[in-house]
Amino acid sequence: MENNKKVVTLVYGCQMSERDAETLTEITRHFGYSPSDDIETADLVIVNTCCVRESAENKILGKIGELKKLKERNLDVKIAITGCMVQQPGALERLQKRAPHVDIWAGTHNLHDFSALLHRVEQGEKVAEVWQEPKATLEITPLAEKGKLHANVNIMYGCDNFCTYCIVPHVRGRERSRRPNEILQEIESLVDSGCREVTLLGQNVNSYGKEFSPAYDFADLLQQVNQIAFLLRIRFITSHPKDLSNKLIETVAEGEKLCEHFHLPIQSGSNFILERMNRKYTREYYLSRVKKIHKLIPNACVTTDIIVGFPGETEEDFEQTLAMMNQVHYSQAFTFMYSKRTGTLAAEMEDQIPLDVKKRRLQKLMSVQNQESLELRQQMIGKMVEVLVEGPSRTNPKRLTGRTRGNDLVVFVGNLETIGSLVNVRINEAGSWTLIGEVE
Ligand code: SAH
Ligand code: SF4
Repeated sequence: MENNKKVVTLVYGCQMSERDAETLTEITRHFGYSPSDDIETADLVIVNTCCVRESAENKILGKIGELKKLKERNLDVKIAITGCMVQQPGALERLQKRAPHVDIWAGTHNLHDFSALLHRVEQGEKVAEVWQEPKATLEITPLAEKGKLHANVNIMYGCDNFCTYCIVPHVRGRERSRRPNEILQEIESLVDSGCREVTLLGQNVNSYGKEFSPAYDFADLLQQVNQIAFLLRIRFITSHPKDLSNKLIETVAEGEKLCEHFHLPIQSGSNFILERMNRKYTREYYLSRVKKIHKLIPNACVTTDIIVGFPGETEEDFEQTLAMMNQVHYSQAFTFMYSKRTGTLAAEMEDQIPLDVKKRRLQKLMSVQNQESLELRQQMIGKMVEVLVEGPSRTNPKRLTGRTRGNDLVVFVGNLETIGSLVNVRINEAGSWTLIGEVE
């Protein structure tokens, strides 16, 4: 087998998409490919796609267009387009017409079979596989990159929630949880190769294991992961507010390695919009969950996702979202303009909001959040925080960077020998997104 072939893997979208891309890269290793960043000399280019918003799709279509030019310069390069965008009902035919230069099309349910597809392409075929349902759970786990401190670990796939704006359940299928032993073994082997922090991934980790008998839930899994020797920190995303149990909050409060950070997407502060979104909670219920978190874990960080301009959103609804931000004090908010996704219920709703209104609301939301973030971080000045040291800062190589338990970035004066371990840093300065300090 030829051993000097190069693969470039480009990723769009969420951490799940990143994890899938790592798995695809791992599969190509068995075919003699090694990872590279140089597209001009690549033998294979994989683009793992996202379709959660139109803006992501437009970027990817632009990239697929650029790859056509690459193929004209280098006839031998193979191009694979994989993941969510390809999985959308009816998308494959449209994409194939638009991009005949692509060699492999594979949907999210076909990634486990990528080696068979690659084999056929290496024999000179062009292939396209998009199954409507998953036929096997992807159990190929990427080799841990030696010395990499952080890794994402899938604990479940798919989503059963069908929020009316969201394409995810349509392209990732129904919820499937991985067996606890597989997850624990994967984390143990990551730790063996130097990993010290894991983020457990699921569209709604709070419903992990709901199909298991005897009962075993996400909090049970966290308790076991917390026992793994040499692992320093555990994070998890995403928590759907409707399923956030007291048991989970208590587990995070007690688990030494469990970071006190809850990513709790609210999406909207208006009960009318929440109902139209099919989120299955009210603003009052959401606030009661946040209150419970702060009661059990006073220093917990809460972050969120918010959509502006959902169909039917009035100025009053939007004001309620702003009011929610002032009440919860999010340390970070990922804010999005509603994007119409074909096949979802909200795409059929009549009262779509004009783009200029969405843009104005997004701007307002961002400026409120910047101010909130700045105030929260300034409260950290003079305090000691625990930091997992990642390495020299990219912007100032004389300083180190790392993250707090709340996932805040810290730039600080410290010792290179502490990379990979936990240190206590005193915070001297704070911006909206970064803390600056020194090891004491
Ligand atoms: N499972 C996670 C996140 C899924 S997608 C959750 O339930 O929170 C990540 C975020 O993208 C969502 O939280 C939502 O804020 C945003 N999003 C999803 N679909 C969208 C759409 N059609 N338009 C704009 N934002 C969207
Ligand atoms: Fe999408 Fe809602 Fe599922 Fe999250 S919970 S992935 S927003 S349908």
